[in-house]
Amino acid sequence: MRVLLVGSGGREHALAMAIARSPKLTELFIAPGNPGTAQYGKNIHIKADDITDLVKFAQENHIDLIIPGPELPLVKGLTDACNHIGIACAGPTQQAAQLEGSKSFTKSICDAAHIPTAQWQEFTEIDPAISYLKTQNFPIVIKADGLAAGKGVIIANDFDEAEKTIKNMLEGNSFGNAGHKIVIEEFLSGEEVSLFAFCDGDTAVLIGAAQDHKRIGDNDTGPNTGGMGAVSPPPFFDKVAQEAALNLTVRPMLKEMNRRGTPFRGVIFAGLMLTSKGPYLIEYNTRFGDPEAEVLLPRLQSDLLEILFNLSQGKLSQSEITFSDQAGICIIMAAKGYPGIPITGGIIRNIEQAEALPNTKVFHAGTALNNQNELCAAGGRVLCISVLHEDLETAQKIAYQAVNCIDWKDGIWRKDIGNRALRK
Ligand code: ATP
Repeated sequence: MRVLLVGSGGREHALAMAIARSPKLTELFIAPGNPGTAQYGKNIHIKADDITDLVKFAQENHIDLIIPGPELPLVKGLTDACNHIGIACAGPTQQAAQLEGSKSFTKSICDAAHIPTAQWQEFTEIDPAISYLKTQNFPIVIKADGLAAGKGVIIANDFDEAEKTIKNMLEGNSFGNAGHKIVIEEFLSGEEVSLFAFCDGDTAVLIGAAQDHKRIGDNDTGPNTGGMGAVSPPPFFDKVAQEAALNLTVRPMLKEMNRRGTPFRGVIFAGLMLTSKGPYLIEYNTRFGDPEAEVLLPRLQSDLLEILFNLSQGKLSQSEITFSDQAGICIIMAAKGYPGIPITGGIIRNIEQAEALPNTKVFHAGTALNNQNELCAAGGRVLCISVLHEDLETAQKIAYQAVNCIDWKDGIWRKDIGNRALRK
């Protein structure tokens, strides 16, 4: 099978590694990829959201399956364009990707399918939003409806802060189109986890669960990031609990999407809050998480390429899907300055020494080769060190040993990835 993988992060490096194991693979292209994905296939110079060029390349190169990594090509209609010309694509259509692209759409699906979620209302005008606010308790959560790269969610502690946020989103233009509609919702408390499943429109098969570490600083301090590390599974959220959560928050969604004539085919990522009343859905993402993919995919024992092809054909039941029971942890090494402007260009050495540790893999994200062919930093999140082991505590120890092997003067990382899960 000839495959085009789309994206350039640690997630795509992990996907490329898993796809390359498939005996069904004949050639793998990655658009645009990174030096890590180049170990498994041929990187091509097409941006991940350039739908026209991706489709043109797929046609000219007789691609059998396109595998989208990030959300943007999905929201921009890559799958629809593929369907139009008869090329298989392992991701949802633009309509189904609204589950990630619009918070009010997701909330309406939850209501229709009786999926537990925070109480909510949507607004496009300031006055009714403020009137609603007067009837609510605090803290309260205010969300820009569209994609805002993790910055469109504000937890307001009191009325004044909430009022200011609403005006800022609806009146100001700080969130562009994403903020012209807002969702105001009840604040939920509990432990936050992410649940992943392969979906073929009708069937959902559990991939696993993970817990991300969103803030830049130890003990969850400082600004939000794309994610600084993850553990899988969170020890307090076992397989039985994961299956129960899948029944509550994913399978009814598939049924409702089918009923609407827009079946969901792809990887679903359900962000959950484990409240005292059970799991509540916070959000869906319509693809693997990054860095969660880097701890989930190394545990997959089956053929990912076959699974993703069958998923795209609505035939997931024809795939064998098994995962090892090991614990996984990954630690992101970012460039100083991240999540602001990162210092790029610093030389990175000793990846081989890190990978010589047991069950350790160093995934590339924002890396590049310089003119001297040396590996250097080229983005905010740069490396992802991922370790599997029988127990999480040992995996954590090995992962930090691996981080300490890496020779890169501008690298920063959190020192407490996994502590929260281990404390529970
Ligand atoms: P963006 O659209 O800006 O990329 P996002 O998709 O990451 O944002 P959400 O996942 O809905 O947005 O929310 C981001 C974070 O805000 C969640 O991971 C969670 O920590 C917090 N959050 C969201 N909704 C609630 C809620 N109802 N109660 C408590 N915390 C919440």
